[in-house]
Amino acid sequence: LMFIFGLYAILLTARSIGAVQHPPESLFALNWGQVFYAVTFFVASYLWSSVFSLMVSQRLQNDLNELATMDSLTRVINRRGMTRLLEAEFARKTRTNSDFSILLIDVDRFKLINDEHGHHTGDHVLHALAQKLSSSLRAQDFVARWGGEEFVALLPATSSKDALEIAERLRTEVEKESFLSENKRPITISIGIGNSTLCDDMDKLYKAADAALYKAKRTRNAVAWND
Ligand code: GH3
Ligand code: MG
Ligand code: MG
Repeated sequence: LMFIFGLYAILLTARSIGAVQHPPESLFALNWGQVFYAVTFFVASYLWSSVFSLMVSQRLQNDLNELATMDSLTRVINRRGMTRLLEAEFARKTRTNSDFSILLIDVDRFKLINDEHGHHTGDHVLHALAQKLSSSLRAQDFVARWGGEEFVALLPATSSKDALEIAERLRTEVEKESFLSENKRPITISIGIGNSTLCDDMDKLYKAADAALYKAKRTRNAVAWND
């Protein structure tokens, strides 16, 4: 757009200088110079209006993509975004044979936080927790809000053993963090680990992580995998 505007500015300047140096006999004189400028004006208007609409639609498309894959409360990826990432990770696994892990993270007794401190505070905790999880994970990992007070972390090229270490670190870091100044009880999470080695589709992987989470929920504030 700047290029078109720049070119048109140069042409207008050239035309103004030309008009001062060789004033036309009449404003509507028909000569090749006039025709050239009329055609140039038409082409430039056409170009800048189409480039401008292209630019606006591209920005809207980017905003829409972001809205469609972002959770508005926690500002992390939503379930749809994570599903896309998982599909891509399964495709990569087929191509390069690189296994990955997921963590299914559930806040312990979250209902009590809502009941004791109100829904608004509950929302605040979810946002702070999502940010904490994002910042605690490695640069190559992704965290998404899967729904309610459940999150999924995708750990590319990570074995179950490494996933266990990462999950344990997340669990202790969350336990130590004071999400609410007036909160007496620490906020804790339980984590179920799923690994792609034995699961060849998303459904099986999620079920494995969910079964592990179910185990972790026996004690809460725990990490488990499904062996
Ligand atoms: P558990 O340790 O077994 O997971 O107990 P829990 O209380 O966390 O689990 P439960 O499924 O009984 O309750 C989840 C609660 O999460 C209930 C629901 O109101 C709350 N919740 C879900 N989404 C939101 C949300 O967006 N904001 C708030 N404030 N609360 C939410
Ligand atoms: Mg839950
Ligand atoms: Mg819960």
